[in-house]
Amino acid sequence: MQFESNKSLTQLNTLGFSQLAEHYIEVDSDDMLNEVIEHANRQDWPVFILGGGSNIVLTKDIPGLVIKLSSETLAYENRAEENSWKFRLTASAGTNWHRLVRDSMSRGIPGLENLSLIPGSTGAAPIQNIGAYGVELADRFESLRALHLKTNEWHTFDLSACEFGYRDSYFKRHSGEFCVTSVNLMIGNDKPFETGYASLKQALEQVDADQLTPVLISDTVCKIRQSKLPDPAQLCNAGSFFHNPVVSQQVYEELKLKTPNIVAYPQDEERVKLAAGWLIDSIGLRGTRRGAVGVYDKQALVMVHHGGGTGEQLLAYADEIRAAVKDKYGVTLTMEPMIV
Ligand SMILES: Cc1cc2nc3c(=O)[nH]c(=O)nc-3n(C[C@H](O)[C@H](O)[C@H](O)COP(=O)(O)OP(=O)(O)OC[C@H]3O[C@@H](n4cnc5c(N)ncnc54)[C@H](O)[C@@H]3O)c2cc1C
Repeated sequence: MQFESNKSLTQLNTLGFSQLAEHYIEVDSDDMLNEVIEHANRQDWPVFILGGGSNIVLTKDIPGLVIKLSSETLAYENRAEENSWKFRLTASAGTNWHRLVRDSMSRGIPGLENLSLIPGSTGAAPIQNIGAYGVELADRFESLRALHLKTNEWHTFDLSACEFGYRDSYFKRHSGEFCVTSVNLMIGNDKPFETGYASLKQALEQVDADQLTPVLISDTVCKIRQSKLPDPAQLCNAGSFFHNPVVSQQVYEELKLKTPNIVAYPQDEERVKLAAGWLIDSIGLRGTRRGAVGVYDKQALVMVHHGGGTGEQLLAYADEIRAAVKDKYGVTLTMEPMIV
């Protein structure tokens, strides 16, 4: 086992903050993970599991051990005789998520097209139950394998054990307890494609339903995403920085009286989801900067790092934005990335 010391994480987080890992190792098998965890526990090192670093804000050097899973394997199992989903796709945690999506597309298997181009690793996908364009991981999820870090014992989680919610899961609420090493997805059913999400629907308006393919939808999702979100390789960011807040119907109606053009999506008869980006934009904060950090000029939901700044500076500006939204609308925004 070869541990690196004082490893720079600048290239390993998409916000590009320059923090260090006290110790760092890349792990490519379950057996190696057991050995590494045994060693870390003996040394009393706290352990942090790093994926693609696209959903974290580093505010300090990470003490103890940072582990990155490097194994990238995909296995398809035909399950057509057992259920309406034709394939079980098993992917190791280190697999790049978009690579997995495109691999299934290249085989003509539908199911994951709406989740195209979400940065990061497959192992992190269940942590916040990634979602986009009307589909979330939970809709295609069967089970996962994870190592309990304190006891170094293996566990299997099925759908209900993961306690998935909107950008949420058991793992997000119990951060650092488990390391996910592989994920099983159920894909390839005959259901109609999910094209109801407003911008996707609009982009596919001219396409006849019988012309739709997983690849066409995936390509369309990629185009929409590229037009709206900054590429972290060009401008450091962690995607959506705030959750869209969900409020009661009554609160929504009061807000609508004061601000008739407020953007909102009904969730059910009692709850309404507000567009956090719209709230921030409406108070004139889109494109603003505080030194090295700021709000993306094309999408107010995204916070960006222009270089030379720190996670603390980003969080300080995020707090200012949250206070301004609270002041104007009485709504509390919560942050999506994990603060480390
Ligand atoms: C441009 C951009 C667009 C984005 N768009 C979306 C979007 O549309 N929808 C969406 O849901 N998200 C989106 N995100 C957020 C991000 O891509 C996802 O949350 C992704 O799943 C994070 O993966 P990662 O490997 O980078 O995780 P990291 O950022 O490395 O880690 C995130 C958290 O998961 C934990 N973790 C990572 N791997 C494991 C593991 N194997 N086992 C246990 N814990 C682990 C980490 O400890 C950390 O707490 C976007 C991000 C960016 C930069």
